[in-house]
Amino acid sequence: MSEIKIVNLRKQFGDFIAVQDSSFTVEDGEFLALLGPSGCGKTTTLRMIAGLELPTSGRIYLDGEDVTFNRASARDIAFVFQLFALYPHMNVRRNIGFPLLSQGVPKAEIRARVEETARLLRIDHILDRSVSGLAGGDRQRVALGRAIIRRPKCFLMDEPLGTLDAEFREVMVHELRELHNRIHATTVYVTHDQHEAMAMADKIAVMNHGVIEQYGTPREIYDRPASMYVADFIGSPPMNFMRFHSGLNKGMRSIFLDDVEVAVPEVGEDVAPGEMALGIRPEHIRFSDQSPIRGAVYGSEYLGTNQIVAVETAVGIVKARVSADHSFRLGEAVGLEFNPANIAVFDCVSGRAIA
Ligand code: ATP
Repeated sequence: MSEIKIVNLRKQFGDFIAVQDSSFTVEDGEFLALLGPSGCGKTTTLRMIAGLELPTSGRIYLDGEDVTFNRASARDIAFVFQLFALYPHMNVRRNIGFPLLSQGVPKAEIRARVEETARLLRIDHILDRSVSGLAGGDRQRVALGRAIIRRPKCFLMDEPLGTLDAEFREVMVHELRELHNRIHATTVYVTHDQHEAMAMADKIAVMNHGVIEQYGTPREIYDRPASMYVADFIGSPPMNFMRFHSGLNKGMRSIFLDDVEVAVPEVGEDVAPGEMALGIRPEHIRFSDQSPIRGAVYGSEYLGTNQIVAVETAVGIVKARVSADHSFRLGEAVGLEFNPANIAVFDCVSGRAIA
């Protein structure tokens, strides 16, 4: 068992609130990604869990035990930083085994565990190499090896792939997830990269200005964003927002976009008249000559298997991801059709999803 639970966790630096009353539970064996732009409080949250930063208020529990005021070394947590330091004068074997050496583990056991760890990370063939000559991906694997050899209850990782080039990053994303599938250690992973979070995590916490805007599975976050912020942060291109001015009543099943009635999922509450937005992801738009929602092709981006076509409409530019079969002319008239099940409606004042 290794469950991490944070309750109303808050961190202030002077008057500035870096983390605002956050609560979540990472269940045993789960992989959580803390996702958000630079400065939103991800690292501060992680450092509090690690015991490197004291919360202003709130509680941290590991396996039900209140560890809020425990020292970092008493928490049985492994922290993998972006800028890890390997010992350059030691070979791979000694780098990986070092944490056990400093714990006084017998030499024979260290040897066996280093080899087991290296096999897990597929670096058993470079155990006797010097770390100074290793490529980025292998260095990262050695750093991971050093973290997992202790068999900690939990892993905390702060942008561990941040320094790798794009190609290695992608390989490591899959390796990290595969490693997680094999060792099932409870993990909290900080990243600003939505693709990393979507590809690796069981759950994602999307953060904005110190607040967790949404906590859910990658599918929930992508399909049912709780706010315009989340809808805009996840997905590329992000969700389209088509604005309209209206009041909404609970139970409504349609709205008017520039006088065209559009079916939407059921509105969940009454909202006073104001600016609203219909949200639809680019891949949930179809072109249809019969549709009354009209526009003119404004530009297109060919992606091989499909294309992103930007369409100028009466309610702004809308991007659709459609088959690459057809080439569109600039200015070509098109009709846009949306599947009601894939539509979201947002209150632009609060930013919250209401349908
Ligand atoms: P990044 O990816 O850039 O590290 P982040 O989401 O991890 O971003 P944090 O590092 O948690 O963000 O920082 C959140 C906010 O708290 C930032 O505005 C940062 O400047 C501020 N902050 C962090 N540590 C301190 C500190 N020791 N003193 C004052 N302000 C701090």
